[in-house]
Formats: sequence, C-alpha cells, structure tokens
Amino acid sequence: MFEQEREHLVFHLCREGYIKTDVVKQAFLTVPRDIFVPESLWNYSYVDTPLDIGHGQTISAPHMVAIMCEALDIQKGQHILEIGTGSGYHAAIVAQLVGQTGKVYTIERFDVLATQAKQNLATMHCPNVIVEVGDGSCGLPAYQPYDRIYVTCAAPSIPEPLIHQLGDPGKLLIPLGDMYCELTLLRKENHRQTRQHLGGCVFVPLVGKYGH
Ligand code: SAM
Repeated sequence: MFEQEREHLVFHLCREGYIKTDVVKQAFLTVPRDIFVPESLWNYSYVDTPLDIGHGQTISAPHMVAIMCEALDIQKGQHILEIGTGSGYHAAIVAQLVGQTGKVYTIERFDVLATQAKQNLATMHCPNVIVEVGDGSCGLPAYQPYDRIYVTCAAPSIPEPLIHQLGDPGKLLIPLGDMYCELTLLRKENHRQTRQHLGGCVFVPLVGKYGH
C-alpha cells in the first residue's frame, strides 16, 4: 500500500537536498510512514508535512527527519537516544540506520503515545527500538553513554543531563528556542565541545525539568 507515494516522497526529499546519502534514502524507502499516522490521516501520510497524532503532538515532517538523520551521521552498531518518541516514525528510520547490531532508546512523556508508538514499531518489526515513558529532558541514564542524542521538541537550552549522557566522541542535535527555533548540533570530542547552528525550524515544546 502507498508504495508509489512513498517513492515520490523520497524522490522529492532527494531532489530538494534533504536526503544526501544512500543509507538515509534506503531507510526512508523501507519505513512506511502510514503505519505511524492515524487512520483518519492515511491519505496525507506521504505529504511532506507534520501531522496530528493527538494530545497536541505531531509526527514530524519527513524533510525534518531527513535533515536530522543526515546531520547526525548515524553509523551501524551505534547506540542512539531520542527524546520525544511521538508516533515512533523517526525512531523506526534511525533503527534502519543503526542496523541489527545497534540500538535506539526513545523516551516519551505521554504514556498513551508511547503505547501507540510501541504498537506501530511492532507492526514495523523494529526489535532494536526500546520505548520508555518519562521526562526525557533528564535523558535516560540507564543506557548511557550514547553515540548520538537527538531531541524532537524545542528546548530553551541544552539540558545538562543530555550533555553528560553523550559519549565522547558523540553528537547531540536539538532545536533551541520557543516554537520557532534553531536546530543546533553539539559535537563532543577529546573532552571538548563545539556548537553549530544548522538553520531555523518549528517544533512542539520540550516540557519537563530542563524544558519549558
Ligand atoms: N519523533 C516523533 C515522530 O516521529 O513521530 C515526533 C515527535 S513530536 C514532534 C515531539 C514529541 O516530544 C511529542 O510526542 C511530545 O509529547 C514529546 N515530548 C515533549 N516533551 C517531552 C519530554 N520532556 N520527555 C519526553 N517526550 C517529550
């Protein structure tokens, strides 16, 4: 179902320069976004836009997922932490990138969204994704350190626990701001940190101890 639509979307993401590498392209071709979209919105699954998943939250636009995957340069076998599971779609894409030897840990503050995401990920056969419920602004210390951490909601500043839980070397990607925010990449290497702004974006807020 929707295979042609999926191919058209991937063609658009490549043509616009959001998808740059073959590994990210293959991940987008493999993961059906319709599995992660509520049934009432199925016809919009392959439109490059965020969609409502309930509780005032959204599944991110495909181009934003692509930008974040490319910026993080995710490798096979890595351990990744995602803050803000939402529908589980972004985690499913990242699960393709880390492969069977890697792991994706994702944390969501809404129990009901986490439950739905687990079902979506089971439908997609993603055994290497672990979904937890809690305040992801404090990270997920149980499985640290992480090779990559990314946040799918807007934070006022980079939460300190996330910097601590990031491995060395490691990369952390986070939208900083209110709702209109700046996608920011923090690199950790040899105990040093550098920050780079990657452009403007719009995200729902990170709500929690280190959030809004
Ligand atoms: N990556 C998701 C996807 O592919 O569907 C989209 C995520 S949505 C844009 C942002 C998510 O972050 C929402 O589901 C929201 O409930 C969650 N969130 C906000 N604050 C959070 C927090 N402190 N801890 C965990 N999740 C949080």
